[in-house]
Amino acid sequence: MATRRAQAVGTEQTWLENARDFIQETLCPADKEPTIQFTQSVIDCVKTTWSSQGRNQGSTLPLSYGFASVQDLRSYQCLPCCSHLTWSSTAYQAWAQEAGLSGAPLPRERLLLVGTLTDLSGDLEQGGRNGSLYVKDNTGILGCELIDLDLSWLGHLFLFPSWGYLPPAKWNRSGEGHLELWSAPVPVFPLTISTGPPTPIPVLYPEAACRLLRHRSKLRVMQPNLAGKLVRLSALVKSKKKAYFILSLGELSPPDSQMGGHVSIIVQVPTQLVWHRALWPGRAYVLTELRASKIHGHRYRVWTTKPSSHLLPLKPECVRELDLDLELGRTLLEADAKTLPRTSSIQDRQEQKGPARDSTLLSYTGTVTAVLNQPAGLYELDGQLGLCLSYQQFHSLRRVVRPGVRLELQDVHLLQSVGGGTRRPVLAACLRGAVLLRGFSRLKPESQSSLHAWGAYLYEKLVWERQLGLPLYLWVTKALEELASKLCPHMLRHHQFLQCASPASPSLALQLLAPTLDVLAPPCVPSRNAHKEILEEPHCCPLQKYSRLQTPCSFPTLAALKEEGECKAWDSFDPKTLLSAPEVAHLTSCQLNQRLAWSWLCLLPSTFQPAQVLVGVLVASSHKGCLQLRDQSGSLPCLLLDKHSQPVTDPWLIGCLVRAERFQLVIERNVKSSFPSWQELGMEGFIQDQRARVYVQFLLADALIWPMPRTFLPSATSSTRPQPEPSLPEVPHVGQSRLFLLSHKEALMKRNFCAPPGASAAVAKPTLSFHVSGRWLGGTQRKEGTGWGPPQLKGDENKDQKVLLIFMGPSVRWFEFLHPGQVYRLVAPGPPTPALFEEDGSSCISQRPLELAGCTSCLTVQDAWILEHERSQDIPDIPGISKVLPESSLTDLLSDNFTDSLVSFSAEILSRTLCEPFPAASGTKPGSTEARKGCVKITVAVEAAHCEFPPHLDIYIEGPHLPRPLGLLPGARVYFKQLEKRVSRSHNVYCYFQSSTYMHVLSFPPETTVSVPLPHVYLARLLQGGQTPFQAIASCHIVSVFSLQLLWVCAHCTSLSVQGRCTHQGSTCPTQTSVSQASIRLLVEDGTAEAVVTCRNHQVAAALGLCPSEWASLLELVKGPGKVALQFIGPEAQPESSAKTDEPLTLFLRSLCTSLSVLRPVELSFELERKPSKIIPLEPPRLQQFQRGKLPLLTHVNPRIQLSCLSIQEPEHSSSLGAFASSCSETVTKA
Ligand SMILES: [Zn+2]
Ligand SMILES: [Zn+2]
Repeated sequence: MATRRAQAVGTEQTWLENARDFIQETLCPADKEPTIQFTQSVIDCVKTTWSSQGRNQGSTLPLSYGFASVQDLRSYQCLPCCSHLTWSSTAYQAWAQEAGLSGAPLPRERLLLVGTLTDLSGDLEQGGRNGSLYVKDNTGILGCELIDLDLSWLGHLFLFPSWGYLPPAKWNRSGEGHLELWSAPVPVFPLTISTGPPTPIPVLYPEAACRLLRHRSKLRVMQPNLAGKLVRLSALVKSKKKAYFILSLGELSPPDSQMGGHVSIIVQVPTQLVWHRALWPGRAYVLTELRASKIHGHRYRVWTTKPSSHLLPLKPECVRELDLDLELGRTLLEADAKTLPRTSSIQDRQEQKGPARDSTLLSYTGTVTAVLNQPAGLYELDGQLGLCLSYQQFHSLRRVVRPGVRLELQDVHLLQSVGGGTRRPVLAACLRGAVLLRGFSRLKPESQSSLHAWGAYLYEKLVWERQLGLPLYLWVTKALEELASKLCPHMLRHHQFLQCASPASPSLALQLLAPTLDVLAPPCVPSRNAHKEILEEPHCCPLQKYSRLQTPCSFPTLAALKEEGECKAWDSFDPKTLLSAPEVAHLTSCQLNQRLAWSWLCLLPSTFQPAQVLVGVLVASSHKGCLQLRDQSGSLPCLLLDKHSQPVTDPWLIGCLVRAERFQLVIERNVKSSFPSWQELGMEGFIQDQRARVYVQFLLADALIWPMPRTFLPSATSSTRPQPEPSLPEVPHVGQSRLFLLSHKEALMKRNFCAPPGASAAVAKPTLSFHVSGRWLGGTQRKEGTGWGPPQLKGDENKDQKVLLIFMGPSVRWFEFLHPGQVYRLVAPGPPTPALFEEDGSSCISQRPLELAGCTSCLTVQDAWILEHERSQDIPDIPGISKVLPESSLTDLLSDNFTDSLVSFSAEILSRTLCEPFPAASGTKPGSTEARKGCVKITVAVEAAHCEFPPHLDIYIEGPHLPRPLGLLPGARVYFKQLEKRVSRSHNVYCYFQSSTYMHVLSFPPETTVSVPLPHVYLARLLQGGQTPFQAIASCHIVSVFSLQLLWVCAHCTSLSVQGRCTHQGSTCPTQTSVSQASIRLLVEDGTAEAVVTCRNHQVAAALGLCPSEWASLLELVKGPGKVALQFIGPEAQPESSAKTDEPLTLFLRSLCTSLSVLRPVELSFELERKPSKIIPLEPPRLQQFQRGKLPLLTHVNPRIQLSCLSIQEPEHSSSLGAFASSCSETVTKA
């Protein structure tokens, strides 16, 4: 453009020469010789227009302006611009300022545009007309928009004094630019003004036209002219077959309502489609030579234009009303009395659906203030209304509509409170109403994001094929934006996300939404019938009825999900509620803080409002060895199971897109606190440190999985520390591989490796690594085409091909996929190297693990190697593949047989606590960082076949180099292999997690916990040995009290506390807080056997039948002496006390313990004092001598059963209770 203009700016002579050349070349009709007269007319037109502004800057010619042809604009004008021939610079400035602050105004270029206005897009006489408008010159044709078209302009040459040009959007190189013609064009040659017909034309007004439609016989001969005011204009409907629109004329002065009587006219002749741009609602028109026709699927007749029909503005002096009565004759008029049958209503059917409401049809004129989502046809009107244009075919409008555009909306639907996250009222146009351009925008169009550039086809599909209602459609547009912001452009390009890969498969975006859409909008709705939508009364269209949408779900970013999880975890972290009330009062400071040290929260998708759907790309971390879900916001560790009890084994999953509606968001809370006692639990300031570990766990069987285009595989590095990642399973073209069967996998932890020769000594840092042992299946295979060649046989085939594979560095990413009993293929990409999978000379792992594993060779898995899972049915002859994981028998587990101290079993986790690190086992010094990290103690119920009451066992996991595995949560089931069995000083068996231990989670904690009631047993059952429940309930009677002890201890150092003061010598305890502790030993019997029960702390209150207030007062009384202990010997309960027997407190307790309020029937929940993991055999019954009068009796006596109380309940129907208990319960209820 610049060069042309530079030439143009010169003397008038050069300007004129250039102008003449341009006009002859560009504007002269191609089929005629260029004439001087033609050229002069164009220049005169420019001159006249230029001088009309009054101040022609010393020249009669616009010397600063140059001519631009259509071709010039298309080829050189890459930026939006405008040109105003008659404007001064100040006028332009003022105009630009009025454009508003929200954007940049169109920059001004000094260009002269002259061309023919036409509705013909190409050379085709008829097919080239579809209602669009163009500016044409000899160099080409450009689409244009004009606000008030005069039909007489078509086909004439014009100078356009004021216009804007908008080139195609950057992403749409193949697209066309368009012109916005701002002011009325100036004709180069005077237009012939039609003087109207010589005699007034006969017309019918709408009411009469309607009546005439019912007289079929007359319709054949009559081709009436209809006159009336334009009361309705439909959208321009374009189908594959044809394009048309429907207008309705009403009475000029309607008696009551505006829509009194009106008649609809279909315009479908291609040359007449451009009328749509010339028609203004509210103006009066005459349409000539109409005929009546029947529309397919429509019951009655409608007026239609003929090719010879004309559209004329209605001038009263040029028309006369036709007397219909005269034309038809009186006899036929009875037919008028018949009312039209109403067509069957789709609305009646829709009403049955549910609480639907009607939208309001209205007309509205407003200014677009924002583009919300251009391809989805969503805009903001006047800053407060939503506008949705996607229910119309709005292709031509799409390019024009931007902030600043004024639109007149005819018969649009107003929908209020549509729900689904949309708050403002929305105007939406169906095919019945027209969206008319009433003012252009002065602003440059904003550059579109790629999401917006690519989505148009998808949104059209949703409206026209899936037939989504507006509330759901609006939600879908939001959901797609959410999803795109999670994945695009770094994991997926927008077009990969939005466009379908093949015609058969929908786009990834749609596949992600499909599970929700299939429920809310089943894809089997009849398609829209445009004729019905426009003509039928009552009106029926997808926008007519709607119901408020409950937001179905949302797709949060992983960072947001993590943050929300953390927030919820800390919001719900309340030390007071975390520790159960009666027990907490007796805990010392140390116990209290230990119990608070670890807790967890599990959030299900339904706990979020709206429900959250997990979407992310699965990656395997090369730094941590764990699996992660990743999106653009970050990553979230995840624990996956293939399906119930099945670990994930296929590394193919790396890089796949995962969508999970069912998942558990787990937040493990680690808290370092220093609460002195329970009394301070509500106070702040005692928590020194709190950390949360957030991860998700779900079954792949519950998720949808899509492979991603491999070129956009995200790396698993943390976002803060980008680091190149070896690219993952791109299948190599050259390479070699070898199959191996995995028999054991060791824990992932930091291990010491000696530095390879030549490396610096500083490398001797522990490295995250793991080993697997197994054996090769056959020899090395070479890549042959797409498959693998035959195994290369080498050496002794019968040699046991045991191998130890070492995974360290980036190859730890395979950790989660390797499981015993599975066959894997180790692939080394690149040109074959001989003996690559043979013994590894360079790795100088110590010989010990090799010997332990009994392996013959040892190999370090290189970073670039790839692991593939081989389904074992593909490998026919592998002897001894056992999918069944080994489990130790209960006898092995709970015996003192130590020939094999490594045990394996499946178990359900009952509880998890943090405890002090193991003094004996760990090599760490107390106080070191490792020691402070503590040790995880999990109590499990071992799953064993034919065992009704699974024994409980403690497992200790400790070690600074061992990352805490995910998923060790109460309620989860876990398989452990090669745990070390140990026996405590009190002969209890416990297990210790070793570096060689393998574990995998079998199932996640149940989403709803059903508390299984304890079995009800007779005490004699406990003597049978073998299958005895560890915990149970017995209905029994308290026979006597053996001993009772109440004391106060310092909460800090647990020394005896007298008068509330610590008695520790040289006490330096930071607080003088003391807590009470209590224990009682009871003899109970239930008619089958006797048992000694120990109750502690709050259970003592229940055993004594005291209510909380009485219990509190009793403990207050003990505070003075600090300790009261009573011993009762024998069933007759002779009291003997360490305290002075005559003290009132002692006297009271002694009488209480012998009264019927204590010695009463109770429901006792208990557990065996002797743990099932205790490995000393039961005492046999022993002979005991009794004195009965003078007769000595010798009898076998069973050892007394020793029980620990879990709780004591008063039996049901216990009206005969001791006075204390009953009075107490009364006080409690009254209180
Ligand atoms: Zn509608
Ligand atoms: Zn103390």
